[in-house]
Amino acid sequence: MFNLSGKTALVTGGASGIGAALANRFASSGANVWVADRDEVNGPAMAAKLGGTFVKLDVASEADCAALAQTIGAVDVLANVAGIGHVGSLLNTTAADLDKLFAVNVRGIFNCCKAFVPGMLERRSGSVINMASIAGVIAVRDRLAYTTTKFAVVGLTKALALDHSHTGVRFNCICPGRVETPFVLARLKEYPDPEKAYRDMASTQLNGRMLAPEEVAAAALYLAAEESAMVTGSAMMLDGGWSAGK
Ligand code: NAD
Repeated sequence: MFNLSGKTALVTGGASGIGAALANRFASSGANVWVADRDEVNGPAMAAKLGGTFVKLDVASEADCAALAQTIGAVDVLANVAGIGHVGSLLNTTAADLDKLFAVNVRGIFNCCKAFVPGMLERRSGSVINMASIAGVIAVRDRLAYTTTKFAVVGLTKALALDHSHTGVRFNCICPGRVETPFVLARLKEYPDPEKAYRDMASTQLNGRMLAPEEVAAAALYLAAEESAMVTGSAMMLDGGWSAGK
């Protein structure tokens, strides 16, 4: 079940957190994995640990993404996980903040799809998995720019699925609640009372805990595998019930 033997997977943002968990799970399920990240310290270490290959990539650069597709050729699974956050409402978000988040969170996915989806369409096979967020489905307080970009990721995923239905190429996104990654743990240290902040963050999930990155990886593995052949255009909620209601 959920075997990726013989498949090639590219994971952007694979050096850390959720991306690293996906890369690891894909590799342990038999895939040949490319770890693509702008982080040249953790990226190579992560790739070596799971028996994959590191490639330096800034997803915000269209030229870098196109060049990468020329270098590594077609992939079966494209997991667009690279993303950045921002804290602020309208009053403390600048146009430059918004542009920066769009460049990575939205145009980064667009760039990678432009580079790798034509090869999938040619082979009439492939699975694209975009990392959206709970903030792509409901607004998260004080995350104006982040929420805006993650709603765009859900929209982009659905538009891709619609335009390329009947091609054998599938497009889905995952909407996690809070995931316990180095990024989130570092942010917690900035609060006056990190333990209280942890409890507050955990309690937004109705089941009272954060997700483990491996739980996101398990969902991604399903979306990557043949068993999800009927799933396209979906926004899979992994939010411990956060979006169910209050
Ligand atoms: P993280 O910071 O641990 O990892 C993100 C990785 O992306 C890093 O390795 C970073 O170097 C890489 N990256 C950033 N910008 C890049 C760029 N321009 N080009 C290439 N690589 C780049 O973060 P994470 O918590 O693992 O989050 C990963 C994704 O999951 C993001 O898209 C994030 O929005 C999403 N997400 C995270 C959570 C959470 O609670 N952690 C929840 C929902 C969604």
